Amino acid sequence: MNIYGDTGNVLVLRKRLQWRDRPVYVTPVSIGDPIPADADILLGGGGQDAAQGEIGADFASRGPELRALADDGVVMLAICGSYQMLGHEFVTSEGRRIAGVGVLDVVTHGQRERLIGNNWVDTPDAGRLVGYENHSGLTTLGPGAAPLGRTQPGRGNNGQDGTEGAVRDNVIGTYLHGPVLAKSPRFADDLLRRAYERRGEPADLEPLDDSLPEQAARVAVARPR
Ligand code: GLN
Repeated sequence: MNIYGDTGNVLVLRKRLQWRDRPVYVTPVSIGDPIPADADILLGGGGQDAAQGEIGADFASRGPELRALADDGVVMLAICGSYQMLGHEFVTSEGRRIAGVGVLDVVTHGQRERLIGNNWVDTPDAGRLVGYENHSGLTTLGPGAAPLGRTQPGRGNNGQDGTEGAVRDNVIGTYLHGPVLAKSPRFADDLLRRAYERRGEPADLEPLDDSLPEQAARVAVARPR
């Protein structure tokens, strides 16, 4: 699944490693494809309800594997539709239940009115993440998940509790498309560090000139909804 530029998250991470002359391999995983056993980072994008329905059976069948990978500390960044399906379930606004894999302790229920527009989330470790949201699903966190951060009223997970996204160990879900990593370089490097730390390798990354993504983030935050 990929909408609103989510594939760009792959490009951002690959570029930030290539600029540092570090090896990087990208393996697309579609319906029926195996997840590489030595994967360090899994990235999932968003999708319309219909697309989530199409991949639903395949995604659910990967539940035991994804839970084992999450328990093993594999880094996962799941955007919107993938975020919802890493939870326990997504019940669409039409009442169709799409089973999740229970990696994140969250549930999502669709409503007729969508939460749409530019948004940001202030996180405790990676600063402000900037992106764009467009979802009917309202997500509620259970005790096993912490919010990724705080956002503006009427936006984020459910427009009610001021939270955005969810985190558990190295698994991160967010509603921010964009791609979110393009305007959130600290967060992109945080994901890379987590992957190196899990491997037991030095996680010190050479600094990059992030003046452009930081400027893009300032411009995006100043834009109307
Ligand atoms: N189909 C889901 C919803 O509407 C996810 C949308 C998305 O990935 N942008 O909430």
